[in-house]
Amino acid sequence: MSETDTQAAIASGPMGRHLTRQVRIAHGSREVLVGGHAPVMVQSMTNTDTADAIATAIQVKDLARAGSEVVRITVNTPEAAAAVPDIRDQLDRMGVDVPLVGDFHYNGHLLLTQYPACAEALSKYRINPGNVGQGAKRDTQFAQMIEVACKHKKPVRIGVNWGSLDQALLARIMDENAGRAEPWSAQAVMYEALITSALENAQRAEELGMAGDQIILSCKVSGVQDLIAVYRELARRSDYPLHLGLTEAGMGSKGIVASTAALSVLLQEGIGDTIRISLTPEPGGDRTREVIVGQEILQTMGLRKFTPMVIACPGCGRTTSTVFQELADRIQTYLREQMPAWKTTYPGVEEMNVAVMGCIVNGPGESKHAHIGISLPGTGESPAAPVFVDGQKSVTLRGDRIAEEFQAIVLDYVKTRYGRE
Ligand code: SF4
Repeated sequence: MSETDTQAAIASGPMGRHLTRQVRIAHGSREVLVGGHAPVMVQSMTNTDTADAIATAIQVKDLARAGSEVVRITVNTPEAAAAVPDIRDQLDRMGVDVPLVGDFHYNGHLLLTQYPACAEALSKYRINPGNVGQGAKRDTQFAQMIEVACKHKKPVRIGVNWGSLDQALLARIMDENAGRAEPWSAQAVMYEALITSALENAQRAEELGMAGDQIILSCKVSGVQDLIAVYRELARRSDYPLHLGLTEAGMGSKGIVASTAALSVLLQEGIGDTIRISLTPEPGGDRTREVIVGQEILQTMGLRKFTPMVIACPGCGRTTSTVFQELADRIQTYLREQMPAWKTTYPGVEEMNVAVMGCIVNGPGESKHAHIGISLPGTGESPAAPVFVDGQKSVTLRGDRIAEEFQAIVLDYVKTRYGRE
């Protein structure tokens, strides 16, 4: 690589942001901006029965505490709609001001009109144009939902999903395709149907009186290459803020990898104003995982900073005990748990890097690059763990209390460097 190549590589960060209108999602004095120059926002969705107001409020609180900036709840039945104001009240009483978004399918026009307190308590409505109704009823029911949104001054997301694509629109696009001299592939027709559904419904919402800066679009699919292709085209053809997410991403590492692969390509191209990671939790698994993964995608790409990062080596034959894995896990968990309080007490702490390394090979070097680093002894090394602070060796830890002592050093560093006085 020549010097010019090196300079070019350094200069080529994420491409310029695809500039969109900006939508404001608010609850009380809390305001979340989506699009324009606002940072890419992380959101999530509950999986509790919304009619169970207590369980839903608790999960929303957990998601918000984990860092979800907006939380969506399904509103699918009269009981769920009736519970929404109660959920909002409970959250407010707990001091959780995260905006709530209602997810509506099939009966949203009825629930939003028959439960005005629900319509008011929500900060945004998600409307799936494929699930609004059939035939002539479709336009009327869509208009009813937009009318409620305008009345309560709430933004909407026109959220298209290829699992519930408007079949009448798909048939129309297929007919148009059949008339082409060189018909498009079935895949291209599907892409066009998704994009057209989003754009036509956004236009219809504006014709019904909704302001253009009250509309967010999404076109979710479950294939990585499909998602990238659809969003590139959607971004080219509109300036509405875009909600990114690979729908039905799946469980465990597959869901994380597929979401990361798809979203990172688009984010690198400046496409996407808010993200949600649609992970299937393990039975009894922690729903906040989707928030953490979303944050980690943005933070590891250098687009946002949420929490101090732990750099840890993978370990190898030089680490025959689990000490360093346990310490890396302990420190990462500790840092994440502190963040809700540290965010206000120690502003800027989210940029901190902590290295936890397994042996002398890369340990001291990597530790010197971090704000704080510890190089644990590998097999055969003397049982000593040098600690580096801002690139300088500060102390060497020994004995059974290395983890506790290192955690205390980290806390001390945070207080000294990020404390206000
Ligand atoms: S730093 Fe040491 S223990 Fe960690 S992966 Fe490298 S050689 Fe192995």
